[in-house]
Amino acid sequence: MCVVMADPSALKSFLDSHSRIVVLTGAGCSTNSGIPDYRDTDGQWKRTPPVTYQAFMGAEETRRRYWARSMVGWRRFGRAQPNGAHRALARLEAQGRSSLLVTQNVDRLHQAAGASNVIDLHGRLDRVRCMRCGATLSRAEFQHELAHANPHWLAHDAADAPDGDADLDGVDFAEFTVPACQVCGGILKPDVVFFGETVPRDVVATARDHVDHADAMLVVGTSLMVYSGFRFVRAAADRNIPIAAVNLGRTRADDLLSLKVEAPCDEALAFLLEG
Ligand SMILES: [Zn+2]
Repeated sequence: MCVVMADPSALKSFLDSHSRIVVLTGAGCSTNSGIPDYRDTDGQWKRTPPVTYQAFMGAEETRRRYWARSMVGWRRFGRAQPNGAHRALARLEAQGRSSLLVTQNVDRLHQAAGASNVIDLHGRLDRVRCMRCGATLSRAEFQHELAHANPHWLAHDAADAPDGDADLDGVDFAEFTVPACQVCGGILKPDVVFFGETVPRDVVATARDHVDHADAMLVVGTSLMVYSGFRFVRAAADRNIPIAAVNLGRTRADDLLSLKVEAPCDEALAFLLEG
């Protein structure tokens, strides 16, 4: 039975009556930090779905296009700052009321806001990994390599897209050079879980263990259309612990919720920052 409320006081009562809350967040948490969302309020794609793992690894052409757009998009994404929603959830952790925050976001803004018990379910965009030798480097460092190899590309005007991507029109991606791993010459990939890839088993097991010991779940800013996040809500429902959600629009778990607040994440959670 889902109760839709615009009034966050019901959410305050919900959070006040639990002490081992697992929080699950998604893109809606970060839209006020200037990072666009992929989906509309019905959970449908607003735009072309992101590149798959198979497409990225399978073709140099796809990687050129990906990194060209990423290089331009990173200028803004790399500067994004946490907003009130991130700060409110960091406060919930500092108060000792949340045991874990699982995020589907790859922007690290929960950590930037001070949260420390965080699982980056889909990885992190601030790191790049070699798919052959496993070496990692920071995305900021790789940005220098990209810019050095493609000095004229940063002059392109582009519209921001999700996950540090940018829409680039009228360019020839064949002219873009993608630097290889400096250790082994292998293919470099953002250290995020692409569509078509699976979340590492130990990451899922750790999150699942927290859900199994939680007394409530709070879902913030996600339509839960991706199974990798939805499964934890399913697990919470199977344990019969109450689940509250803050989201603009419908979620895949609406019939599993005990409370739903349809409001922007930072507004709905603002009470956590009072006092
Ligand atoms: Zn390598």
